[in-house]
Amino acid sequence: MPAIILDGTKIAQEIRSEAAAQVKVMSAAGARPGLAVVLVGHNPASEIYVRGKVRACEEVGIHSEKFTPPESATTSELLSLVNELNQRDDIDGILVQLPLPGQVDAKQILMAVDPAKDVDGFHPVNVGFLSTQRPGLVPCTPAGVLEILKRSNIPISGREVVVVGRSDIVGKPVAMLLLNANATVTVCHSKTRDLREVCRRADILVAAIGRAGMITREFVKPGAAVIDVGMNTVTNAAEFQRFFAGNAKREEGFRKRGSTLIGDVHPEVAELAGALTPVPGGVGPLTIAMLMFNTVKAAKMRRGNLLPELSRV
Ligand code: NAP
Repeated sequence: MPAIILDGTKIAQEIRSEAAAQVKVMSAAGARPGLAVVLVGHNPASEIYVRGKVRACEEVGIHSEKFTPPESATTSELLSLVNELNQRDDIDGILVQLPLPGQVDAKQILMAVDPAKDVDGFHPVNVGFLSTQRPGLVPCTPAGVLEILKRSNIPISGREVVVVGRSDIVGKPVAMLLLNANATVTVCHSKTRDLREVCRRADILVAAIGRAGMITREFVKPGAAVIDVGMNTVTNAAEFQRFFAGNAKREEGFRKRGSTLIGDVHPEVAELAGALTPVPGGVGPLTIAMLMFNTVKAAKMRRGNLLPELSRV
């Protein structure tokens, strides 16, 4: 039986609507949440991401401000901007869009963000809160993975989970969230031996690798829930055929744009998985939705929990 396709776009819309309802109540109480987005220079991909984030704020009702220091900005100039935003009472969340230009000490900038306003959840204080199960701000994509599982009624407690990838922004925090939700978690990486065998143990398999279609059917236990975090662009026609031959919709898009988006999971996995997130339209849309959630959460935490928690994450 083919996998149930987990509709991330729909789940993200639910979360955005819930955030919008809370923003409405908070704004009426004179506490409208505010997000500052810092975009340094002119990286085209970053400009697209930031546009999406600002548009989401408008839709949800969050006040947003965009700061665009030039490509030549120095570490000390960015530190002054971050410090100024840390002081502002009307700004609840600060997002510094990565990557930063080479001359900037990115770690120093991220460390300077007030942990209470760190809506990306990358500050070591928030990493510590997550690993010690204290309330804090959780990185958006991992938090989105948990929301997909919970809202799709996929049980986590007591299940075998394998996470492939150990990055600070996806693999490690998603593993920690799943451990906190009582899963038995194995984290794999490029030095893991017998990766296929380890992955085949998983009731829930999370792929956060950055390698187009690497997780083929041999890695998947029949019936497993497979969460594909990967976002890879395929431009080579032969590679496209290897993944999508016979898929008329994809072929039409590839002809028009000369590229297509693929996750870390091979499309053939849909034939044996129990549930699967598509790419695009799976984990991707959750990232911005969880940024909206985190901005509301940061506002509530800073302003003394004016309102009840939005969800269990
Ligand atoms: P990353 O920092 O490059 O980490 C990749 C991880 O995969 C590393 O831990 C690496 O192992 C592991 N890996 C690489 N090749 C492997 C192999 N052959 N076998 C086993 N493990 C291997 O990437 P990331 O930032 O975590 O992102 C992962 C993917 O998620 C990318 O496709 C990215 O575009 C996507 N992403 C999507 C969203 C979203 O909104 N949907 C958000 C963030 C990221 P080592 O540690 O040993 O090198």
